[in-house]
Amino acid sequence: MYIKNARFLKGVIGDDASLHDNLRHIAFIGRSNVGKSSLINSITNKKTLAFSSSTPGRTLQINIYSTDDPVLLLDFPGFGYAKTDIKQREKIRKMILWYITVFEKKDRLFVLIIDSKVGLTDYDMEVIKIFKDIGIDYVLVANKADKLNQKETSKLKKDITSVLGLDTYVLYSTTKKMGTKELLSIINP
Ligand code: GDP
Repeated sequence: MYIKNARFLKGVIGDDASLHDNLRHIAFIGRSNVGKSSLINSITNKKTLAFSSSTPGRTLQINIYSTDDPVLLLDFPGFGYAKTDIKQREKIRKMILWYITVFEKKDRLFVLIIDSKVGLTDYDMEVIKIFKDIGIDYVLVANKADKLNQKETSKLKKDITSVLGLDTYVLYSTTKKMGTKELLSIINP
């Protein structure tokens, strides 16, 4: 049920030959600390494949993982990590926008991860607007859903559906192993 045999292929900053292939790209993006690395580790059933945004030296590059399927996982740097200066943040923002808007790739899916407790931020809204404008496939994953009570969960669902309309979202928790099956069925149908 997991993405099989995911392994680190390469870390790149911007364009690279490894991105130009016939493999489907699954691109993981989100603000720092939303639990992006925990989520990648959970769907690949690995403990230490992806590194947290707070890991020094890992903050700027796109980490590429190959798998046993004809799929590459692209782990983008977390946006907005408190310890990165404004210049670096802008570089990260530009790199993500470059991959979304300029990089030519038809067969890809974006996984936009948010922190359920924080909800949709301006950054998420900016990215979603671009996805919608260009007509890009994406799934919104609300991670850390274990932190919400019933009332908060209903509010989050309402917020997400009113913003996203009919688009797909998954309530997720890496700690409670919730949403994994659902996300995997979307990523790897
Ligand atoms: P990243 O910076 O987006 O890669 O986030 P990390 O995966 O490093 O996670 C950031 C923090 O959130 C860590 O302390 C994790 O243990 C915690 N975390 C990640 N996923 C969950 C979750 O589903 N529930 C809760 N409660 N905490 C989580």
